[in-house]
Amino acid sequence: MTIRLQHTLTRRGFLAGTAAGASLIALHPYSAYAAANQAHLRIMETTDLHVHVFPYDYYSDKAIDTVGLARTAAIIEAIRAEATNAMLVDNGDFLQGNPMGDYIAYERGMKEGDMHPVITAMNTLNFDASTLGNHEFNYGLDFLMKSVAGANFPIVSANVVTSMGATPREDATLLKPYVILDREVTDGSGGTHPIRVGLIGFVPPQIMNWDRKHLEGKVQTRDIVRTAEAWVPQMLEEGCDIIVALSHSGIGAAEHAEGMENASTPLARVEGIDAIMTGHSHLVFPSPTFDGFAEVDVASGTISGKPAVMGGFWGSHMGLIDLLLERDGNRWKVVSSTSEARPISKRNEDRSVTALVESVPSVLDSVQKEHDATLAYVRQAVGKTSAPLHSYFALVADDPSVQIVSIAQKWYIAEMMKGTEYEGLPILSAAAPFKAGGRGGPEYYTDVPAGDVAIKNVADLYLYPNTIRAVKVTGAQLKDWLERSAGMFNQVTPGGADQVLLNPDFPSYNFDVIDGVSYEIDLSQPSKYGPKGEDLNPGANRIVNLSYEGQPVDPAAEFVIATNNYRASGGGDFPGAKGDTIIFEGPDTNRDIIVRYIVEEGTINPTADANWHFKALPGTSVLFDTGPKAAEHLGDVKAVTVEPAGDGPDGFARFRITL
Ligand code: MN
Ligand code: MG
Repeated sequence: MTIRLQHTLTRRGFLAGTAAGASLIALHPYSAYAAANQAHLRIMETTDLHVHVFPYDYYSDKAIDTVGLARTAAIIEAIRAEATNAMLVDNGDFLQGNPMGDYIAYERGMKEGDMHPVITAMNTLNFDASTLGNHEFNYGLDFLMKSVAGANFPIVSANVVTSMGATPREDATLLKPYVILDREVTDGSGGTHPIRVGLIGFVPPQIMNWDRKHLEGKVQTRDIVRTAEAWVPQMLEEGCDIIVALSHSGIGAAEHAEGMENASTPLARVEGIDAIMTGHSHLVFPSPTFDGFAEVDVASGTISGKPAVMGGFWGSHMGLIDLLLERDGNRWKVVSSTSEARPISKRNEDRSVTALVESVPSVLDSVQKEHDATLAYVRQAVGKTSAPLHSYFALVADDPSVQIVSIAQKWYIAEMMKGTEYEGLPILSAAAPFKAGGRGGPEYYTDVPAGDVAIKNVADLYLYPNTIRAVKVTGAQLKDWLERSAGMFNQVTPGGADQVLLNPDFPSYNFDVIDGVSYEIDLSQPSKYGPKGEDLNPGANRIVNLSYEGQPVDPAAEFVIATNNYRASGGGDFPGAKGDTIIFEGPDTNRDIIVRYIVEEGTINPTADANWHFKALPGTSVLFDTGPKAAEHLGDVKAVTVEPAGDGPDGFARFRITL
């Protein structure tokens, strides 16, 4: 069947309303007639689904419009309805990353023959192929193999090896390195012809570090580019017309470095690869995010001249590469291309979100049972806390809501440092209160009583989808990091009564507490840094008696600090955290790490260890406002003398601290 130009434009015009670049239409190969020796091929990509099938945020326990394969499916079905020749691939990271994934892994389990719900949902959409992402390994190889066994589409991965050969082609791989799909395409005059489409998959070799406990002694990994250089010629020998790389790897440096994590640009240069599906970094390509990247052309949607796409994450976008193919003797070759990432929702100027598509009912229906079970799971206890978890005093004393984040981060980073050059360095952990009143109002605090902890409570502890990082700092940088945090407080006059403690221009998420050292904050001194990290008083010292294991911290000593990607890469402009001190970048969200910690420990003890407090200033008092429920937790506060001092504005309660 040949699609007439006018019809095509009409259909595209309808869909283009959801696309980033409507101006692409004029140049779009799909908008042009295919000649008798030409054919259109539309290759659609989902990537980094992370078990998001329903448009639902299980942490906050409410429906949302920004995620879900059921929504992406609407765009997929629309493309299929209008396209003569279309394929659908997934780029990995489907098994882990939301409470539905945790429910299957930690609660229901994967027995022989069980279906994983994300695979069930993908089966309803008849994917042509997928590859493995790094998160597929998070629950171990047995869980992975049982999950992928249910897929009605091939899953390929070339650089995860069970038995390493002298060259990649002599490896035994965990899954098939590639598949060749024999399909038919319809050309511009309606004739059908065979086409051999090869699909080869890659994952960051760093899975060996990130999931060492699951993988060591069982599999090994190879460099992405070197692996491609070995296998692609074999795929050509086997008669592939078109070779598509499923690169679960981001778009980064153009220059190849052995073992690089984000290898899509040098991978695109490998001869024989015709198109490259990317992912892993949860970004959108083409988009201005990649302006100025070497060998990346955002306007044409190419990397090293090859068509490329990255379809966001959690089903936020569907990536689409349109190829115009031409018969060259007996083979098909690519003569032109465009690519785009079509979103399922848009954010309005007032930050509200508008859905651009409706869910496809058959996708929802396929996992309705598991969705309902996940809802029950997030609402039920997954562990216990031996002390109440609240943030009412998080800005004035060491606090359980911050303590538990630090404990879990340190637990994770200690494991990751094993066997590295950093093993043996002291591991500290930085965390800040996220829910601490302010503009959120007097109810906007974490408040989980002692006893059962449910997964939805973890959303309360960690609001942002940050990922874990570790930095290496000196004792001097450590102290300045804390000086930066101490800008939270106004300067206090010794001997004065009822002075206002908190600087309202200073956001609570920049009040990092560093666990693993002890220190005092001298409020009589001016702040060294301003609320945005600017130098205010370069000689000032609010941080006093900074010590590690009872000894003063040497400015030249070295420490590892567990933190998040925002802070480590310069968020808040903290000394020692400007991007140049990062020694470890983990793929896991800090929130997932807390869930894993609670599930593994069973009962957690988030009791704050009072490792920091205000320096005594005799005869001095300060006032601060917090949620009225703070009154129930006065007895939990250690190392600071707090008493009620009446009502604050707007429903807040006022308390007095005697320094
Ligand atoms: Mn991912
Ligand atoms: Mg502490």
